Amino acid sequence: MKKTRRPKRFSVRTASKSVEKKLLQNAEKLYEDPFIVLPKFEDNVSKKAFSGIIRQIKKIDSIKDNVDKLERFSKKKSLAGAVAGTLLIAHSKKAPFLAVVRLPTGEVTYAQRGKADKKFLVAVQHLDDPSLRLLGVRDIALKRKLHIYSWNNSFVSKGDKPSPPKEFIDFIIDKLSLNLNGDVASCKHIPMEKARDKQEVENRPYLRIQWNSANVIIALCKSCTKNSGNTLFSITRYLIEPDISSDFNIEVIGHIIKDRGEVETFFVDKYLSGALSDYQLIVSNMEKRRENLRKKHEVEFILDGKSYGDDIDGFINALNPKPYERYALSWILEKIDHPVVVSNITPNGLLEQFWEEYGLDVLSSLVDEDLANDLVSLDDTPSGILKTAWEYKERQEISSKLPRYKNLPTIAAFADHIARTYHIFGLEKTLSEIRNTPSDTKGKSISYAFLLALGRAGDQKWRYSNIEIEMGEFLEEYARRLLEATPEEYHNALKELLSASGVSENIDDLLQ
Ligand SMILES: [Zn+2]
Repeated sequence: MKKTRRPKRFSVRTASKSVEKKLLQNAEKLYEDPFIVLPKFEDNVSKKAFSGIIRQIKKIDSIKDNVDKLERFSKKKSLAGAVAGTLLIAHSKKAPFLAVVRLPTGEVTYAQRGKADKKFLVAVQHLDDPSLRLLGVRDIALKRKLHIYSWNNSFVSKGDKPSPPKEFIDFIIDKLSLNLNGDVASCKHIPMEKARDKQEVENRPYLRIQWNSANVIIALCKSCTKNSGNTLFSITRYLIEPDISSDFNIEVIGHIIKDRGEVETFFVDKYLSGALSDYQLIVSNMEKRRENLRKKHEVEFILDGKSYGDDIDGFINALNPKPYERYALSWILEKIDHPVVVSNITPNGLLEQFWEEYGLDVLSSLVDEDLANDLVSLDDTPSGILKTAWEYKERQEISSKLPRYKNLPTIAAFADHIARTYHIFGLEKTLSEIRNTPSDTKGKSISYAFLLALGRAGDQKWRYSNIEIEMGEFLEEYARRLLEATPEEYHNALKELLSASGVSENIDDLLQ
């Protein structure tokens, strides 16, 4: 079946005056010296490689004032064809329509004159652009294994060995916004010696590019690579080398566990192809290393790069948890049979990692199952839920240890109720219970004594008569002792408060 022929799509735009002017200027430079599109060289390998194209350009140079002959030459697809085509622009002194090509470095415009391949037209018409002019000689260079460097106004071929000139190296380091310190150009977070010796820097994994032929090491930490793109690509856009991967060693320096020897760098090919940025290369390597460690299926606890081996307590101590977090972490980690590798994490953050699997079980070990079920479904952090469960359990324990009475007389029952409430539920609940004071003077005096002991008498004072206040001040110390009593001291403290307030009944017999 015959395919329908679609019209070819061209992206053509009207040239702005400034773009056109620039192009005409370059065409004039080309007219003055058509050899400007080729790099300078001194070696025989380059000489041989460029001899063919030099012969063609010599021919064009000799006919550069003959428009008809240039027209004929511009039908060639080669670099020479692009030179001839662009010389035609120098003659016509105009280039009103430009085509657009999208390169990895961005959009570039050029004028299509003749039949030359667009990469050659781009190179010739941007002969003052150190990156774009490389397009003109890339094919020859790769075929003949040449090493070519292009910067500012210089453009050189160094033959079959990588050998970047000093000026070129300085140009690149400057492009990267780095400073060369000896043989190291690193961000401010990576000390020179560390970068040189491939030593890790705490909490700062970094990209290390060793540029062998330049004898330069480039080091960028993870946070500095957030905006650095792909640094290798930023360098290689100004050079052509047949074997980039042997001239540039790419490594990510940074261990999950300190001092575990050298670590392999993954995804280098993806990085070389430009598919990963500096930052992505660092992050994906650190993730991979973490994952590899996890896969080992050994119990090991690692926090911020430090291994605690199987020492759960040491590991938990380093997290500095609250008591309830400590309890839960210890309970959970005892049941883990694989490495736990974390960094920069709070106890709650670590609990979250295990909460789905172990949350309900931990809670059930603290409180009864119904309550555990209620708690686990609360909209709160693991740490917050554990705190609630923990405090409930503590109250239960205190409550179970306090002495119990039956048939206490009214005043005694009130004092016991307030003190018990305070021991079990704390301050707020106690303050609200104090409002239910018996209305007689003894009851109100004790009530006022409790308020004084709790430091909350001030705004309640108006409720009390002078005699109740006076009596309350006398009883304050007894009230405080009852509030602060251990379960063992509680009974005597209650007895003393009652006796000081003039209650005569003996409560010894009312103990259960
Ligand atoms: Zn940095």
